[in-house]
Amino acid sequence: MKDEEMKPLIAFGIESTAHTFGIGIVDSDKRILANVRRAYSTEQEGMIPAKVADFHIKNAEEIIREALTKANLSMKDIGLISFSQGPGMGHCLRVGAIIARSLALKYKIPIIGVNHCIAHLEIGKALTEAKDPVLLYASGANTQIIAFESNRYRIFGESLDIGVGNFIDAFARYIKLGFPGGPKIEALAKQSDNYIMLPYVVKGMDVSFGGILTNLKQKYDSGMYKIEDLCYSMQETVFAMLIEVSERAMAHCRKNELLLGGGVACNKRLQEMAEKMATERGAKAYFLENQFNVDNGAMIAWLGILEYLRGKRQTISETGIRPYWRTDEEEY
Ligand code: AMP
Ligand code: MG
Repeated sequence: MKDEEMKPLIAFGIESTAHTFGIGIVDSDKRILANVRRAYSTEQEGMIPAKVADFHIKNAEEIIREALTKANLSMKDIGLISFSQGPGMGHCLRVGAIIARSLALKYKIPIIGVNHCIAHLEIGKALTEAKDPVLLYASGANTQIIAFESNRYRIFGESLDIGVGNFIDAFARYIKLGFPGGPKIEALAKQSDNYIMLPYVVKGMDVSFGGILTNLKQKYDSGMYKIEDLCYSMQETVFAMLIEVSERAMAHCRKNELLLGGGVACNKRLQEMAEKMATERGAKAYFLENQFNVDNGAMIAWLGILEYLRGKRQTISETGIRPYWRTDEEEY
């Protein structure tokens, strides 16, 4: 009996807020036993919610099997089912939620729905030395500066229009680089150091990208600028905006750790700027392996464990999806 009590809790996390269907298997000793994911992509168009949901349905079984095989476990070993309850695209969230409920009912395992944005913060704390960081969460759909302050995960700044990743992808699509555009733009930007003036749009603690996108498109259409210079200038401008508001959040909260998360956090230039800012103010910047920057099941499993150990319990009827779930809704 004693042995049984000492066994770590193993959580099975399901991510399906947007383009990625991911399964992570993580235990309460922070061991990542599996982190398998597949992302929907297109040549031309953007994401059509019903099509992405179909993609998740088609791939789910294979990814679940792959994750269990990788972890060398069966569903009977799982002590907790955790899933992204929001925020995200309704069609996609529903697929993950239905799978989570089905597994929980079939194998009689407790189920917990977690907040996707908070999962990005908590996996960063689990996998780095960061104890209480400000998170610059820069992904496709989301751009938020998040920190835990006075019993809530709070948003200190965010994009007033599109997420920085979607902005980068939109420009990449416009200059015919395909999707996702981030890595291709990064490679082109490396070939230039010729800065072309672009609008710099920080409003208080918030940022906005729509006007910069229009300006970039006009510059591209004029044929007067090299693509490499535009990519370089774009990165320098929007990353400086993100680092500026991150720094202000750190000063405001008196925190001396900065964590980067989200797909755009894979960008080496953004990491370099974060490192420089942190060093200059006597703070420290933390970066994750790319597999934990992008949307992934491991972070969902891990946040499920934290919530469960904090005492959270949910009945099946409480597991409805929350597409517009705000990071700061719950008190801890
Ligand atoms: P996520 O929504 O967090 O899964 O991240 C996807 C977004 O990250 C897409 O918009 C990508 O274009 C972007 N992204 C991925 N790699 C990079 C990179 N190296 N530089 C900039 N953006 C990137
Ligand atoms: Mg994300």
